[in-house]
Amino acid sequence: MRKKIVAGNWKMNNTLEEGVKLAGQINDLVEKTDLNGVDVVIGTPFIHLAEVNKLVGDKIGVAAQNCADEVSGAYTGEVSASMIKSTGSKYVILGHSERREYYGETSAKLVKKVKLSLENGLTPIFCFGEVLEERQSEKHFDVVKSQIAEGLFNLSAEDFGKIILAYEPVWAIGTGVTASSAQAQEMHAFIRKTLVAQYGQEVADNTSILYGGSCKPSNAKELFENPDVDGGLIGGASLNAEDFMGIITAF
Ligand code: PEP
Repeated sequence: MRKKIVAGNWKMNNTLEEGVKLAGQINDLVEKTDLNGVDVVIGTPFIHLAEVNKLVGDKIGVAAQNCADEVSGAYTGEVSASMIKSTGSKYVILGHSERREYYGETSAKLVKKVKLSLENGLTPIFCFGEVLEERQSEKHFDVVKSQIAEGLFNLSAEDFGKIILAYEPVWAIGTGVTASSAQAQEMHAFIRKTLVAQYGQEVADNTSILYGGSCKPSNAKELFENPDVDGGLIGGASLNAEDFMGIITAF
C-alpha cells in the first residue's frame, strides 16, 4: 500500500548554521517519537544537503528543492541530480509553483528533470496545482490533469510508481488560506481517478498524493483523515521543529 509522507520544504530560508540547528532539532524529536509508519522528509537548500544528511538518522530522508535539466557541464549556477545524490539525499522536489512562476519551470524542463532524477535514484516529489483564477473559473481539474500528464505521463508504469505527487493549490501556498478538507479530498480523488485511467488501479492505489498549502498542526489531522490524502508538503510550518512534528504526529 502507499506510503504516508510528511515532507518539509524550507525554501530559501536558513544559513548553514541555522539549517543544521533546525535539522538537529527535528531529528531529536523524530528519534524519540513513534512515527506510526509516516516517512519524514526535509527539503533543504542545496548548501545544507551534505551536512544535514550526515546529521540525521535513518528516520529522516533529505530532499533537494530542484535539480538541473542537464547532466553536467557548462551550466553555471546549476546543481545536477547526480550531485544531489552524492550528498546522500534521496528525494528531490520538482515543479514547485514558485519555480514554475519565477524561474520559467516548464513541463518540458520538468520531463528532463524527472528523468535525470530517476536515473540517479532520486525520488521526485512532483508538485502541481491551480492558481485562484483557475479555481474560480472551474478550470482547476483540467489544469491539474494537464500538469500531471505533461510532466509525468511519458513515464512507464514502473517509473511512475517511483514518483510522489504533491497537490499544492497556489492560492493556499504561504497565504494562511488552506484548502478545506473537502476540497483536498475532491481533488485528490480526481487525481487518483486520472491515474487509474492512465496506469491502472494498482499503480494509482500505490501512489502517495500529498497536500500542500498552509498546512499546520491545527488543520493537518482533518486534511490527513481523507482517504486520498496521503500526507503533506509543508512550507512555513516546517521551519519550526515543534510545528513540523505536530504535523507529522497528526496522522
Ligand atoms: C509549499 O511551499 O510547498 C507550501 C506548502 O508552503 P506553505 O506550507 O507555507 O503554504
